[in-house]
Amino acid sequence: MLPAPRAMTIARAKNERVIGHFTTAGQSQKTACRDHRRRLRRHCGRQGIATLRSRCHGHRPPQPSHLPTPVVPGGNGSARTRRCRRTDSAAVSATKNVSVLLAEVIGVDLESRSVDVKYPGAADKKITFDYLVLAAGVQSSYFSHNEFAKYAPCLKTITDAQAIRSKILSAFELAESTDDEDERRRLMTFVLVGAGPTGVELAASIAQMAKTTLRANFRRIDPATTSIVLLDGAKRVLPSFAESSSVKAAQRLAKLGVKVITSAMVEHIDDQGVTVGGKRIDSGTVLWTAGVSPSPIVKMLGAATDRAGRACVGPFLNVADSRGIFVVGDAATLIQDGRPLPGVAQVAIQQGRYVGGFIARELGGGKPPRPFRYFDKGNMAVIGKNFAILESGRIKLAGIIPWFIWAFIHIMFLPQLQNQRRVQNQWFWSYFTGQRSSRLVDEAPRI
Ligand SMILES: Cc1cc2nc3c(=O)[nH]c(=O)nc-3n(C[C@H](O)[C@H](O)[C@H](O)COP(=O)(O)OP(=O)(O)OC[C@H]3O[C@@H](n4cnc5c(N)ncnc54)[C@H](O)[C@@H]3O)c2cc1C
Repeated sequence: MLPAPRAMTIARAKNERVIGHFTTAGQSQKTACRDHRRRLRRHCGRQGIATLRSRCHGHRPPQPSHLPTPVVPGGNGSARTRRCRRTDSAAVSATKNVSVLLAEVIGVDLESRSVDVKYPGAADKKITFDYLVLAAGVQSSYFSHNEFAKYAPCLKTITDAQAIRSKILSAFELAESTDDEDERRRLMTFVLVGAGPTGVELAASIAQMAKTTLRANFRRIDPATTSIVLLDGAKRVLPSFAESSSVKAAQRLAKLGVKVITSAMVEHIDDQGVTVGGKRIDSGTVLWTAGVSPSPIVKMLGAATDRAGRACVGPFLNVADSRGIFVVGDAATLIQDGRPLPGVAQVAIQQGRYVGGFIARELGGGKPPRPFRYFDKGNMAVIGKNFAILESGRIKLAGIIPWFIWAFIHIMFLPQLQNQRRVQNQWFWSYFTGQRSSRLVDEAPRI
């Protein structure tokens, strides 16, 4: 099920018609086509519609998981689809030709070249297109165990991150108030399922919070005795990184007091804990940091998909046999040098830019560009304070230097200067004091 409402950007011409269908009666096909192109160019600018999308994308705020969520208030990193970087004059002028609709695409009809759109609280609409760029990303997947979702929330959106933060803080509050030792132990046991970057980063973040941030906050419990268990069916943590980095990550997790259990499949999750490899772990908080699956919209394109359900795209990120249909980012899979491209932001950003350029060239009557090629700037995982892992080409770093690089990159990518400054100040404060500015715990409404 898709979380609602979802944000989607649809590029439109200034005249509020969706790009295309400008043919007027009496025009020859050729003239109509030329005029059409001219109008599109005038309305959309040289970079074209998808470029703007990709510009927005390039500057899009980091996902909650890219941020140390307990540190960054949601508003500082939240989506600002309606406004790209104010300082980017090219983006500002291009946005004049773009309409942003907060709506959910519920259907794609390739024959009539239209998408069915659902607006919150309004009637559904049909929007026609000449070009469709699908960048619908992925959603959490419980690998055919959807019953786990009730007990093990996932981390994908800012709302998920806030719910998880609240759940974690509530567990400490409940542990403080109970007189039952076993129950206290259960409440202070956190289990994370999935030891990819999300699981590793979150486990380290909880460990850091328990050991440092909450240290002197309770009278009856000692948060430093919190037990954090990280589970994975694979043989090692961070399987997408080199083995040497994975070993360093496991050592760092051990130092932070995180217990890592690999090669073990989760069999059952309920409100009291988790069963893994036949063993029971009582826990008050189980978090799902395992799989993802693409948006169901991908299936509607009728394109070939990989095992995970991502659209297999051609060298121009196009869907074979369908003119003007592209899939980019996490929703697509493309093999480069014998390996599928990773589901990371850089791939999505570069693909968005590429498709923007492709469409602009086509509209301008230029030659198609070379096939898309991903330029890998490197991968990072941050494991608590002062420790990150960085892999870029042959460079493999672990420790404090990549941690500072990571912090710098994340501040630079926050939208708007005021957010950058605010987060920077908060991080300085947290770095030197170990404290966080606010610790909100959601309350159930009082009836
Ligand atoms: C927990 C987590 C941590 C991550 N950490 C990192 C990291 O540290 N570094 C990194 O590079 N990458 C990271 N990633 C991956 C990165 O977030 C993605 O690769 C990137 O966001 C993909 O961009 P995208 O545009 O393809 O999809 P998304 O950014 O997911 O955007 C898809 C958008 O489409 C919308 N949408 C979906 N379906 C519909 C519909 N039917 N109608 C309308 N709108 C729809 C969604 O609401 C969403 O806004 C992480 C991902 C997760 C889940």
